[in-house]
Amino acid sequence: MAEGRSRPAWANIDLTAVRHNATLLRRIVAPSALCAVVKADAYGHGAPAVAKAAIEGGAAGLAVALIDEGVELREADITAPVLLLSEPPADAADAVVAGGLTPTLCSLEGVRAMAAAATRLGVRVSVHVKVDTGMHRMGADPATAPDVAIAVSESPILRLEALWTHLAVADGASANDREFTDRQLARFDQVVATLAERDVRPNILHAANSAAALAWPQARYDLVRCGITLYGELPSPSLAPTVAAEGAQLRPVLSLRARVSAVRELAAGERPSYGRLRPLPSRARVATVPIGYADGLPRAAFDAGLEVLIGGRRFPLAGAVTMDQIVVDCGPESLVAPGDEVVLLGRQGDEMITAAEWADRLGTISYEVLCSIGRRVPRVTVGEAKAGWSRTSPWGGAR
Ligand SMILES: *Cc1c(COP(=O)(O)O)cnc(C)c1O
Repeated sequence: MAEGRSRPAWANIDLTAVRHNATLLRRIVAPSALCAVVKADAYGHGAPAVAKAAIEGGAAGLAVALIDEGVELREADITAPVLLLSEPPADAADAVVAGGLTPTLCSLEGVRAMAAAATRLGVRVSVHVKVDTGMHRMGADPATAPDVAIAVSESPILRLEALWTHLAVADGASANDREFTDRQLARFDQVVATLAERDVRPNILHAANSAAALAWPQARYDLVRCGITLYGELPSPSLAPTVAAEGAQLRPVLSLRARVSAVRELAAGERPSYGRLRPLPSRARVATVPIGYADGLPRAAFDAGLEVLIGGRRFPLAGAVTMDQIVVDCGPESLVAPGDEVVLLGRQGDEMITAAEWADRLGTISYEVLCSIGRRVPRVTVGEAKAGWSRTSPWGGAR
């Protein structure tokens, strides 16, 4: 198995699983199209490789948070549409146009800056206008959104390609949450209707993240924006039945692995690592593994009772997580030896540790677990497409 060179700790990125997940999502939401959300370096998986695999799996386009993230995709020869999920700063409009990115706009100043940049560079720019229907993070409020969309549609150098919004509690199963999502969708529909009265009809409407794509058919409109599900994790465990109903399963893309660097035999009562936090309950073989909190294995993992897999079995940490290494209590019977593979996230034998398990124990969400895996952990991609890569794909689902 491929692994890190400078030290034996690495993350495998299974591109076959990305293609599988994209195809499955596409099937679930059809006839809506799929936008693969690859911000934050594809949630820590490596954006260019994941983006290509997602498009091979059926995604019609990509979405990122930052201009630099979009430019990275262009530099990797990706020609599919790349949506910026926030309105770019006015002084960055030229970079958006030069990068061939699709800006989200939500203010008249933003429209003016983008039109000026498009005119300067002589490029017609497609725009997605964002409505704030209740998330209250970003977007034009429903009263002013029509003016922003109309300003785009009246500009000779901009094209109103889409109108969109973002849902705050699409993963919520409570009556309150469901009512709030209904209200957000109603506000969105109202803006669409107001625009239609003015004879302005965006080609594409979109509102759904992974949770809504799975749980809210009515929110799928023409396009869904999926991130976490593309990486094989659910936004919330309550959504498992929806995926299972498709007779298929999302497959985790990332597995975090390392090799045992040292093993020592210690007596009961010894307390390995900083702070001497825990006495060994019995004589034990204790394995040192070269991965630590600087790699995204949080220091809280010890108190949270996180386990690792060695030889297809679960073992607890023997003491505090350090910056570069952990110690694992392999018990008195284990045959663990230097060089053995350790799985922190992923499958080994019949056992499997998911990002959802870490999230549950650590009191966070799988998103944060995946995004926190450190830059110094090499990403090793497996399942690359054989024929190299080049494809143009328009957004699907045009009305
Ligand atoms: C990150 C993000 C998404 C993807 O959300 P998931 O829950 O990972 O599917 C979709 N839309 C917007 C606006 C986002 O910021």
